[in-house]
Amino acid sequence: MDALIEINHVTHYYNTADESVIAALDDVSLKVFPGEFVAVIGHNGSGKSTLAKHINALLLPDKGSVTVAGLDTKSPENLWEIRRSAGMVFQNPDNQLVATSVEEDVAFGPENLGLPASEIRSRVDESLKRVDMYSYREQSPHTLSGGQKQRVAIAGVIAMRPEIIVFDEPTAMLDPVGRAEVMQTIGRLNREEGLTAVLITHYMDEAVEADRVIVMEQGKIVMDDHPKKVFSQVAELRRLHLDIPQVTELAIQLQSAGLNIPSSILTVEEMADALCQ
Ligand code: ADP
Ligand code: MG
Repeated sequence: MDALIEINHVTHYYNTADESVIAALDDVSLKVFPGEFVAVIGHNGSGKSTLAKHINALLLPDKGSVTVAGLDTKSPENLWEIRRSAGMVFQNPDNQLVATSVEEDVAFGPENLGLPASEIRSRVDESLKRVDMYSYREQSPHTLSGGQKQRVAIAGVIAMRPEIIVFDEPTAMLDPVGRAEVMQTIGRLNREEGLTAVLITHYMDEAVEADRVIVMEQGKIVMDDHPKKVFSQVAELRRLHLDIPQVTELAIQLQSAGLNIPSSILTVEEMADALCQ
């Protein structure tokens, strides 16, 4: 199978205020395959957002190359097709919602594609249903909760019929209810509709839900493995100043208190099973 996203030895430099240069990405290579759900974790400043912006050509590599659905991000003629096929959802939904009603907001992208009005209408309705926000379609976005706003932002992206959505800390500004709503939406789009999802997060309980976890440190990928494998490396994660999932932490404590419990527990369900045995 061909990779949907192919990041090939990419280095990205920024000029800093004091006129030095930093490599925010330092020879990074990564392939993401169709239908995968990949989480990206790493300390602040490790290069996660810079990586995300390379996936939809908001940034271009100083060295190496990025292809999305086989299209090189460096070719200007590919720009629109790359932005359509790899959508992005950012941290602050208020920066993404611009219109006076929910449905106008979702229509914004399809309108820019120059689609006929009937096609725009059907895409808007379908997208809002897919994120469970159809009944709010005539409301003003500012009357919505954070989680609802973020779901409208996701609807705006799926109205473009993307193959990939890159989520850059989409739950960072949400309360626990909003976080759960957005995570359910992402999980459903991935599992039931085959959407490829790249989720940048600092919540380990969110990363656990992915098929694969990428760990970044100082512009490099330092781990790339199944959540079970990544979160079993407790000492290494601590060295990288990353948390481990709360239930995993609990499992380790119970283990050191003498209980016969595996330390590979990642979810509340697994913990319940282990305790019942
Ligand atoms: P993360 O998303 O993991 O927090 P970023 O990709 O935002 O990391 O940043 C990686 C590094 O690049 C950090 O050291 C950050 O300070 C620096 N950086 C990010 N954006 C810019 C910019 N526009 N100009 C200069 N330096 C930047
Ligand atoms: Mg970031």
